[in-house]
Amino acid sequence: MKIAIMGAMPEEIAPILEKLGTYKTTQYAKNNYYEASYKGVDLVIAYSKIGKVFSTLTATTMIEHFGAEKLLFSGVAGAISPALKVGDLVVATKLSQHDLDITAFGHPFGYVPEGSVYVETDKELIALSKLVAHEMNKNVKEGVIATGDQFVANEERKNWIGATFSADALEMEGASVAVVCDALDVPFFILRAISDAADMDASFSFDEFLQTSAQESAEFVMKMVDKLAR
Ligand code: SAH
Repeated sequence: MKIAIMGAMPEEIAPILEKLGTYKTTQYAKNNYYEASYKGVDLVIAYSKIGKVFSTLTATTMIEHFGAEKLLFSGVAGAISPALKVGDLVVATKLSQHDLDITAFGHPFGYVPEGSVYVETDKELIALSKLVAHEMNKNVKEGVIATGDQFVANEERKNWIGATFSADALEMEGASVAVVCDALDVPFFILRAISDAADMDASFSFDEFLQTSAQESAEFVMKMVDKLAR
């Protein structure tokens, strides 16, 4: 089995590469892909760079070029739900693009013809994450994640996204990865650790907590890989 582990930024995959120690680096489509064998499964790991376009390219490459059969995303996000605090883990049940807008034609936000407002994540991987959360004694929340090509550092925008999409957290890559995996029929899992509250202090909070939150998320995802390897 070949599993893709993806992040958006170097900090999000660094803990994983560190854990593996040795890996093969391949350059493709102006990005680095790291391949390793881990507990009997083949891994392909990469950070895409930030945003929907780069994450689309990387997810597609991991599947179509490197042959990934499952995809796990690990990274950080801004909290919308007041119940989510810095360092908390959130598993996406479904994702939507909050900046996709052809509402002028009477469509809902996040919708284009032949697409759907939400893309649902794989139920089996979510079930597996519950097992891992239990074993790690971690409180992992499930929720809706909204994605857009904006770093949200604005209470009003955050609340609008929360209300429009019933979203609990927001980030910049999940929904595009979801669209790719759904179209190519690859089970996928999106995990985020909260780095900020998407408010006026978001950039400071992000800078302060990126590393520790990314580490939290990466550790959890590697525990998922341990389970999948069995
Ligand atoms: N510090 C970076 C930019 C980070 S952009 C630089 O200067 O180069 C934010 C990244 O973290 C994105 O990959 C996104 O998925 C996630 N993220 C965390 N908090 C976010 C927020 N409040 N709004 C949007 N994305 C957020």
